[in-house]
Amino acid sequence: MEIKITRTENPGQKPADESKLGFGKIFTDHMFIYDWDDQIGWHDARIVPFGSLELHPAATVFHYALEVFEGLKAYRTADGTVQLFRPDENAKRMINSAERIGLPPVPVDDFVQAVKTLISVDKDWCPHSDGCSLYIRPFLFGTDASVGLHTLHSAKFVIIVAPSGAYYANGINPVDIMIETEDVRAVRGGTGYTKCGGNYAAAQRATVEAEKKGFSQVLWLDGVERKYIEEVGSMNIMFKIDGKVVTPSIEEKTVLPGITRKSMLEVLRDRGFAVEERKISIEEIEEAAKAGKLEEAWGTGTAAVVSPVGRLQIDGVDYIINNGKIGEVTHMLYNTLTGIQWGKIEDTYGWTVKVD
Ligand SMILES: *Cc1c(COP(=O)(O)O)cnc(C)c1O
Repeated sequence: MEIKITRTENPGQKPADESKLGFGKIFTDHMFIYDWDDQIGWHDARIVPFGSLELHPAATVFHYALEVFEGLKAYRTADGTVQLFRPDENAKRMINSAERIGLPPVPVDDFVQAVKTLISVDKDWCPHSDGCSLYIRPFLFGTDASVGLHTLHSAKFVIIVAPSGAYYANGINPVDIMIETEDVRAVRGGTGYTKCGGNYAAAQRATVEAEKKGFSQVLWLDGVERKYIEEVGSMNIMFKIDGKVVTPSIEEKTVLPGITRKSMLEVLRDRGFAVEERKISIEEIEEAAKAGKLEEAWGTGTAAVVSPVGRLQIDGVDYIINNGKIGEVTHMLYNTLTGIQWGKIEDTYGWTVKVD
C-alpha cells in the first residue's frame, strides 16, 4: 500500500499540561483515509490534515449503522521510543467485525502500516507523562449514497488519534457496577463479538440508567437465559474465586474477544495460575460472594488496562469485593501489562511494535 502524505500547514497547539488531557476530545494534526469501492477495491490511501469528513446524507452508515471500529494505543517509553501493543490483533478483529456486518475487510498489513505511518507523522503528539498515551481510533463504514440497503458498493476506512491522559491519575480506584436485568447487549448469532457501533447503541439506555444510579457500568447477562455473565460495558470481566481465575468464554460469540483479556490470560497461565474460560452464572458469583470466596473481580480493556470492581450490585443487593480495594492479582496484571506497554519491563512475548 502506498500512502500519500499531505502535511498540515497549520499544526495545532500541543497541550502544555498533560495532566488535563482527558480522553478523546482533542486530536492530532493528521488522519488516515482509505477508500473502497467494488470496482477497484481499496485505493487512495492518504494521510491528510485532520478535519471534517463530507458524506452524502443518504450514506449507509447514517441509516443502517454499517460501522465497525477498533481501539488501541501508542505509548512513549523512557528512551523516547513510541510503540504499539499488538496492532495485528486489532487488524484481525476488525476483519472479523467487518465480515459479520457486510463491510469490506481491510487487509491486516494495510491496517498496521496505516497505523504505524500515521503515528510516525504525529509522533510529537505522543505525551511524555507517566500513564499518558495516544489513543488510536480506526473505523470503517459504508458510504453508498442510497437509502435502499443492498450489497455495499463503497466504504471508507479512517483513523484518528487522540492524545489521552492517564486513566488512573489519582491511583487505581475500584468501580461500582450493577447487573443489568432488563436490556441485553448480545444474543447468539448476533453481533456481540464484533466491535460495531450498533452494539453500543443497544447498550446505551442501560448504561445511562446505571450512571444515574451512581454506577460506572453495567454487567451484561446472556440474552437467552439471562443467567450467565458476559462482560461489562466496554470491558471483559474476570473473577478470582477461591484461588482460581474464571472468565466468561468467548466461544458462543456473544462476548467481545478483548486483546487485553487474551494477553492477561496468557500472563496468568505463564505464572501458573489456574484459569478457566467457561460459563459463569450469576448465582455462582452470589454464592461465592456470600461464602467469602469472591476474592477479586476486574474488568479488562485497552483504555484502563484493568478496572477493579469494588462493589457489585445484584438485584439490589450490594456485594463488596476485597473491601473495595484493588486485589493482588489485579495489581500484578496491571503492572505487567502497563510495564510491557510503556517499556518498563522486558517484552518477552514480542507484543510491542516500534514506530519509526
Ligand atoms: C473493546 C471492547 C472490549 C475490550 O477489548 P480490548 O481489545 O481489550 O480493548 C471489551 N468489550 C467490549 C464490548 C469492547 O467494545
